[in-house]
Amino acid sequence: MIIARSAQELQDALQTMRGSIGFVPTMGALHIGHRTLIDAARKENECVVVSIFVNPTQFLAGEDLSKYPRREEADFKICELSGVDVLFYPDVSAMYGEDEVRICAPDVRGFILEGASRPGHFDGVLTVVMKLLNIVRPTRAYFGKKDAQQLSLITQMVHNFFMNIEIVPMDTVRESDGLALSSRNVYLSPSEREEALKLSASLKRATKMVMQGNTKSSEIKASMESILSPLDVEYVTIVNRSFRFLDEVVIGDTIVLVAARVGTTRLIDNVWM
Ligand code: AMP
Repeated sequence: MIIARSAQELQDALQTMRGSIGFVPTMGALHIGHRTLIDAARKENECVVVSIFVNPTQFLAGEDLSKYPRREEADFKICELSGVDVLFYPDVSAMYGEDEVRICAPDVRGFILEGASRPGHFDGVLTVVMKLLNIVRPTRAYFGKKDAQQLSLITQMVHNFFMNIEIVPMDTVRESDGLALSSRNVYLSPSEREEALKLSASLKRATKMVMQGNTKSSEIKASMESILSPLDVEYVTIVNRSFRFLDEVVIGDTIVLVAARVGTTRLIDNVWM
């Protein structure tokens, strides 16, 4: 596995490779969720590139940038054992200069839900993803449905900027008890971890209600909120794939989303129907 620490090093490494490139951008502290994306990229492409970069521009003041988990040695091993060809591991100065041009998230869909709770977050996400996609120039890039709004906005950016890259959405990987894997789960104490199960439990309830024929968003949300109580819920909402709010679930075009704080840890989860 080649480790590249700058755009130039990455491009030099890619010059020696042939065929399609599968790309998995991450912020490290790799878990089985990331591993699933890497495995899919491995299966579907001749060459696999993974990036590990804790992107400062997507963290707001007061968020967990400085304490975001960093596991360099373990992450390198996981990538190597997963058959990654090139690991892109830049520092901040290799990615950003002074007073740069940035990508702006769309006015509506970039500033609801995650964008409302974290204004400016998606400008940072889209800017770094644009940089990464331009450095790697992948055939396919893999993103998790767990970050549904991020996935939707990246898909939209690639479309709006006429970028010839296939965005591949990947299902959320969960622990056996339902908790969605996340690098931030390490912040949870054992009792908080128990509480965190309420997020996936509320989504299971939503799925059950829809399967039983109740597609009314207001009733589904009320039922989810009763399961989530007494967590500090930021939002429970039902949107279509384009992130327009829905009064009724439309099977095949619906995402039910939840964001809540468990202790000081902010968790998100969702289910696609
Ligand atoms: P992150 O390192 O948290 O920025 O995540 C990197 C990529 O992995 C993103 O596309 C995430 O959506 C995806 N991802 C994170 N957690 C999971 C999970 N539990 N299942 C599937 N994909 C995930």
